[in-house]
Amino acid sequence: TQSTRPQRLLGAVQQNATRGDPRSVVKTIDQFCKHKEWAMNVGDEKGCILDSVVSELNPATVLELGTYCGYSTVRIASLLPPHARLITLEFNPHFAAVARQIIAWAGLQDKVLLVEGASGDWIPKMKEQFGVKTFDLVFLDHWKDRYLPDTKLMEECGLLRKGSVLLADNVVCPGTPDYLQYVRNSPRYNSQYFRSHLEYTKAEDGLEKSVFLG
Ligand code: SAM
Ligand code: MG
Repeated sequence: TQSTRPQRLLGAVQQNATRGDPRSVVKTIDQFCKHKEWAMNVGDEKGCILDSVVSELNPATVLELGTYCGYSTVRIASLLPPHARLITLEFNPHFAAVARQIIAWAGLQDKVLLVEGASGDWIPKMKEQFGVKTFDLVFLDHWKDRYLPDTKLMEECGLLRKGSVLLADNVVCPGTPDYLQYVRNSPRYNSQYFRSHLEYTKAEDGLEKSVFLG
C-alpha cells in the first residue's frame, strides 16, 4: 500500500524530532515541507505571527478550525498557559489520526482536544458537549468558504465575547473574500491584516486578526 503525505510527514517527525519537544516537532515539519513535500500547514513565516498573537493574548480557551496534521495545533498548544485548553476540529479521519500522533509526540495531548467532524455540526454543540463558555481565540484555517458561515454560527451560538480574537489564515491565498469583506466592514469587529507569504513559498498571503467588539 502507498503511504500518504500525512503519513510521510509523521514518519519524518518520528525519525527526526525529539519526543516531548514541540519546537523540534515544528522544525522537523518545516524542514520536511521546505525540502521534500509542500503541505498546507500555516508554516514557519505565518507561524511566527500566529505565535505572537497567542503569546500576546495568553488565552485560556482556543478553538482551531482545521487540524490537518497538527502543525499549528502544536505551535498554539506549546504557548498556552497551564490549564488552558485548545479544541481543534478536523473532519478527515485520516488526517485526525496522524495529528493525534504528532500532538502526542510533542507531548501536548493533555492540552489539546481533537474533535473529529465538521465545524458546522460541532460549533452548535460546543457549550453542551465541552462546557465551553466563550473562546478567547479562534484560529480559522479550514476550507475557505466556511470562514464566514462558521463565524456567523459562532456569533449566534454565543461563543464569542467582547475581546475574543479571530485569526484567519490564507485570506489572500487561496483567499476568503466574503469573510474579509464581512470582518472589515462590520461594526462588530476591529480588523487588521498581517502581510506574509503562503507557507513554504514566496507568494503573498497573510493573516487577518479581527477583534470581536460584542
Ligand atoms: N491548521 C493546520 C496547520 O496550519 O497545520 C492546517 C489545516 S488545513 C489548511 C485545513 C484542514 O481543515 C484540512 O485538514 C481539512 O480536512 C479540514 N477541514 C476543512 N473543512 C472543514 C470543516 N468544515 N470542518 C472540519 N474540518 C475541516
Ligand atoms: Mg492555512
